[in-house]
Formats: sequence, C-alpha cells, structure tokens
Amino acid sequence: MLNTQKKTRIVVIGVGAVGSTTAYTLLLRSRMDELVLIDADKGKAIGDALDMNHGLPFLNRTKIWAGNYEDCAEADIIIITAGAAQKPGESRIDLLKRNVVIYQSITDEVLKHNQNGILLIASNPVDVMSYFTWKKSGWPVNRIIGSGTLLDSARFRYLIGEKLEIDPRSVHAHIIGEHGDSEVPVWSLANIAGTDLSLSDEDKTEIFGNTKNAAAQIIEAKGATNYAIALALDRICTAILANEAAVLNVSTLLTNYHGVSDVFLGVPCIVDRTGVRETLSLKITDQEKEQLNASANKLKEIIESI
Ligand code: NAD
Repeated sequence: MLNTQKKTRIVVIGVGAVGSTTAYTLLLRSRMDELVLIDADKGKAIGDALDMNHGLPFLNRTKIWAGNYEDCAEADIIIITAGAAQKPGESRIDLLKRNVVIYQSITDEVLKHNQNGILLIASNPVDVMSYFTWKKSGWPVNRIIGSGTLLDSARFRYLIGEKLEIDPRSVHAHIIGEHGDSEVPVWSLANIAGTDLSLSDEDKTEIFGNTKNAAAQIIEAKGATNYAIALALDRICTAILANEAAVLNVSTLLTNYHGVSDVFLGVPCIVDRTGVRETLSLKITDQEKEQLNASANKLKEIIESI
C-alpha cells in the first residue's frame, strides 16, 4: 500500500560547526525522514551530505541532501545556524551587525517558500535574531523559537551537579534572560528534588561565572562551541516533533513577564507541535526581577539601534 503520510523534514541553514553537528545529532537520533543542508558555501553542504549518507548503512533510513531554499517548502522545522561565529574576545553583541545582514537575505528566501513551518534560531545574538526574524516574518510568534538560555541552563545544571556530585538531570535550575552577558541565574528556585542546594556564596559565584564564561572558554580552546548546542537544538526539535509539551528555556516574545514586554528572552516555555505554546511565570525574587528587566532593557536598546 502506498504510504501517503507526510515525511518529516528538517532543514539546517548554515552547516558550520554548529549546523553540521546539529544535523549529525538529529541524524544519529533518527529525528526525521528528510534532512536538508543549506550553506552559502555549497561545497560544505555537499560534502557534509555525502559524508552523512555514507553512514546510512549504520543508521535508520533518512534522506539527506545539500539543498536550496525551495527545499524549505516541505519543512517542519528550519534551523538557522548561519552566520559569522564569535571570534575570541568578541562579544555576542559585536556579532550583531554582521549577522543582521546575513539574516535578512536568509529569511527573505525561507519565507518565499515556507509559511507553515517552525523557525528555530541559533545564530547569535540569538534573542535579537529571533525578535528580528519574527518581526520580518509576520508569522505567529509561537512559530519563531530562539535557542535562548537552554544551553546556558544545561551548563548551569551540569556545573551544579558536578559540584554536588549529583546527576545533572536531577538538578532543577534555570538561567533566564539574554543568552549572553546579562543572563540571570535563578538561584532562588534552584533545587534537587525540592531540597535546597548546599552551596556557599563562593560556590555560587564560581558556578555562575563558569556558566557565563563557558562559550568564551570553549572558543578560546577550540574555536567554536558545537556539541552541547547541537544537543540543545535536538532537544527542542524533539519537543516539537513529538508534541511533547516539554518545558524548555527557549527564547520567545515576552508580554508582561515580570514587567518585561516586546523583547525575546529565554524563559521556561511549554514547547509542543505548535512551537512555543506558552511561557511559564517563575516565582522569582525582586532582585531576580530587576536583573531580568536589566537584561531586557539591554536587548531593547540593541533592537532599537537596528
Ligand atoms: P561557522 O562559521 O562555523 O558556521 C557558519 C556557517 O554559516 C558557515 O558554514 C557559513 O558558510 C554559513 N553562512 C554564512 N552566511 C550564510 C548565508 N548567507 N547563507 C547560508 N549560510 C551562510 O559558525 P558556527 O560556530 O557554526 O556558529 C554559527 C552561529 O551560531 C554563530 O552566530 C554563533 O555565535 C551561534 N551559536 C549559537 C549558540 C547558541 O546557544 N544559540 C551556540 C553556539 C554558536
């Protein structure tokens, strides 16, 4: 019998360090039937597609090819990781001007061909890129998702777990706000099975410092971050495709969230087949609210300057 069920398609735009690792992670975990790789450097996309195809005898059946923007038409999720990467010593905000120009051309092309998919943005500064893409697309805001502070929260949970010798999956802790220098550690709600963390102020300073500086530290060491972000993007794709309603700290448009509106920031969101179904309002302290507002104001200034 003819199988008429629609095939799941994910398009990855920008197959540099982040994009190719994300594509490979999605492939290893059998997340889709079709995987399309797009890059301004067509040779890189062709090479990656060939290389991954040669692994198919060891994996579940997936159709992989180096495509073009017409291939976005059938896509369930379009992941954008294209752009200039952070150079050693460069802030994410410094990347902005270079990436805005790149994004303009990419989103123009994607929107010509796809009106129903979900756009998952990873390029930095991710909160600004997500806001900009939403404004430009005219799409309902639930279908534009920034990777937000999901990676930062993972780093935070790992570091807390490492200090306390607890599996990071059992550490409940959130980084909210900007994916960047003004991000906010929500220490007031961090816990393990509802119990307080036995961490000194020095421990907390060290853990948050290492969370915030993780990207810079890795970039200094090897030029790019790619594995953990790929797993974070895979996690978001799974929540979407399996209609999980998982709570993930992604970047979304905030509306009166502890006084913050009209900016994309990372907060806990319910993610399902519709994209971001809703945001969850954390019961944070007044000091954390102030920090979140400061993070929002910083990003608003940047957005206004575009
Ligand atoms: P990279 O330089 O290795 O890859 C970027 C790729 O984009 C290259 O292959 C390049 O050819 C391609 N590209 C450039 N312009 C393009 C265009 N117009 N159309 C299609 N492709 C184009 O960079 P990377 O290390 O993979 O980082 C990519 C982005 O992801 C950066 O902005 C980086 O800061 C960001 N990043 C975000 C997170 C996060 O948590 N959100 C984590 C790591 C990296």
